[in-house]
Amino acid sequence: MAPADTTQFPSYDTARKELPIYTYREELLEAIRDHQVLVVVGDTGSGKTTQLPQYVLESLPEIRKICVTQPRRIAALSAARRVAEESKTRIGTVVGYSIRFERRASPETRLLYVTDGTLLRAVESDPEVRAYDLVILDEAHERSIETDVLFGLLRRACRLRPELKIVVMSATLDIDKFSDFFGEAPVFSIPGRMYAVDIFWQKQLKLGTAKATFVRRAVDTVMHIHKNEEPGDVLVFLTGQSEIEQAIRMVQEAHDELDYVDVKYRSRVRTIALYPIFSALETLEQRAIFDPAPEGVRKVVFATNIAQTSVTIPGITYVVDSGFVKQKMYDPQTAIDALMVVPISQAAATQRAGRAGRTGIGKVFRLYSRDAFDDMDAATVPEIQRSALLGTVLALKTMGIDDILNFEFIDPPDPDLVIAATKQLFWLGAVDEHGHLTPLGKQMAAFPISPYLSRTLVSAALDFHCSYEMLVVAAMLSVEEVYAPQRSKKKQAAAEACWQHFNDPTGDHLTLLRIFTEWEATGFEKKWAFDNFLHHRALRAAKEVRGQLEDVMRTLGLPIIKAARIESRHDRKRRKRDARIAETDSGHRQSRSTDYDDYRSVDATSILRALCTAFYTNTAKKHPSRAVFYPYIAAVGAPDSYPTMTLQPPNTSSTPSSIMALCLHPQSSLADSHNGQQCDFVIYNDVQYVNRATMRVVSKVHLDWVRVLMGRLTVLDEARLTGSTSITSPTRRTERRPSLIDIATRDLDATDSQ
Ligand code: ADP
Ligand code: MG
Repeated sequence: MAPADTTQFPSYDTARKELPIYTYREELLEAIRDHQVLVVVGDTGSGKTTQLPQYVLESLPEIRKICVTQPRRIAALSAARRVAEESKTRIGTVVGYSIRFERRASPETRLLYVTDGTLLRAVESDPEVRAYDLVILDEAHERSIETDVLFGLLRRACRLRPELKIVVMSATLDIDKFSDFFGEAPVFSIPGRMYAVDIFWQKQLKLGTAKATFVRRAVDTVMHIHKNEEPGDVLVFLTGQSEIEQAIRMVQEAHDELDYVDVKYRSRVRTIALYPIFSALETLEQRAIFDPAPEGVRKVVFATNIAQTSVTIPGITYVVDSGFVKQKMYDPQTAIDALMVVPISQAAATQRAGRAGRTGIGKVFRLYSRDAFDDMDAATVPEIQRSALLGTVLALKTMGIDDILNFEFIDPPDPDLVIAATKQLFWLGAVDEHGHLTPLGKQMAAFPISPYLSRTLVSAALDFHCSYEMLVVAAMLSVEEVYAPQRSKKKQAAAEACWQHFNDPTGDHLTLLRIFTEWEATGFEKKWAFDNFLHHRALRAAKEVRGQLEDVMRTLGLPIIKAARIESRHDRKRRKRDARIAETDSGHRQSRSTDYDDYRSVDATSILRALCTAFYTNTAKKHPSRAVFYPYIAAVGAPDSYPTMTLQPPNTSSTPSSIMALCLHPQSSLADSHNGQQCDFVIYNDVQYVNRATMRVVSKVHLDWVRVLMGRLTVLDEARLTGSTSITSPTRRTERRPSLIDIATRDLDATDSQ
């Protein structure tokens, strides 16, 4: 399988043989040969993801095509790269990957690493999974929605095609569920090689106060380790990109002020190297994260829970565990789909601690008390039981599965969540009042993006004639953060000043359009992105996504139309004057200025109205005197409040306390005081909950635009809509689900300076 010239590849043969899984190579292959379904369990780092598929590749030629799923893009990409290197082939030949918006594979590809979402989309049109002989569901313990749905679909495929083989891989011992689901499939355990890990609790540490934010505590703990502990690398578990970037900035500052006289092992630790790792793929490009630190350097990696099981960072001695994770949480009571920081589970805490004991005796610094640990849930609630199931319900309906409440789920979602999702789909026009997919829903499902954004694209094409611009907005909303936070306070201030120039008076959607348009006008210059403190990689991704969404539009026969241009006389005069100045400048500048002016005159109304067709359920009204907003359709997802729901905005004097106040994100263009015009009503893309509910990507709208759409909110008969009689079955949970506020205020102190 290797190409002729292998000298250019480093050899990993010895390293591969040292992994725990290697001892069981033959037994594993035999078990795969003998059983249709096999469950494999082994510690993180034992070699499941990179080795097991390679063994099959090397020794089971009858299994031609192998597909391995990962819940995260970054994990699929990193595993494929690593395996291609180990097998001395070029990525995209024998070993490839396919993740949303990015694919490296060819007809000769035998081993394909994909995200579970990618496989889910493939199964939509290939229900018997004929494209593969072996499907490996990796990281099954993560219980992502997509993996959970694949469980059901693959069980069906197994019945239809007895020659199809399935391997389920998990890093935790809680695997009986997987085995039971597949008719008591055999379980293969790879014994781990773990060293002891010493645990230090917050109280013993006396670092920072309980009131300090967990980012602050993490920073203090890193400095404590650096000053007092023997050489060894550190892995810090935080919650997300902004917290990680903030922590790196703070450690950098503390380190700049550090006098090495205070460092106990200064003869052996002379400096520090800081790395981030979160879902943005660019973090993987720093290969040094995976390399051992040079002599005298202490490597500190700041990670999200991505480093808990899916990406292994070798050689970690110290773990700092914040005790928090950023998780998606859907509250059907308020219909708010929030990304929030919540305490981790005990199982997750144990996994995190385990990262310190892989190569020797390790230490874990838990930034919480023993009592807080005892209060944590034993295991993380599967995503399918705490998410808005919009995309999932739409995908299942596309596959002809209408009775979702009776689908073979490994853990069925709360019927309330299924009902709420089906309702949302009805409000978006994707299903009719019987819950059947509409032609519009079918079109929406063809886009690999959120149903809200695909709805917006269809209406921009058919009703509001601005699909050219909307493709950019949808693409920008489908990629990672474009604003690049800076490490020093001074640079951060410079960046924020710079970003203000992009702010559009209508809000963030047009601001994103403006950023992209200006970047496009430079010929997609990397330097321009850098100079404007923007992530070039995210912009490039948006360009790629725009292209792919455009392809889907063309396949569906949807027109790609530029929005009308409207210009006041004053603006036209100024444009002409600017153009004259630009003529004397270089040709490059001239083209930029022309395109830029072209953008400035875009008719924002059509774009905003197209956005409203999907996001009208995310309308918020401003408080008359304070800088907060209220969800306009309060408690829209709660069935009981339904018949009495009023289209009147909640009266502020009698607002029930259950209606949550929404704040503007500080980065929002509407939070910019220079940009501040009166805004009464806004729509938002989503809500992030850290201490308070913060709307992200917000634009001003007119009440008239959303009011006309709200007629759809009143027609509903749940039983008809879900096509199921089981709504009233005993499986329906009756106890009150904890609300967002309950969860966020639980014991651990989530105070954060966001
Ligand atoms: P598992 O899936 O059981 O957690 P993996 O197959 O992902 O284990 O990893 C096995 C080992 O291979 C890891 O301990 C690590 O040393 C090495 N490894 C895996 N991926 C990479 C990578 N991208 N770069 C460097 N080393 C890697
Ligand atoms: Mg793995």
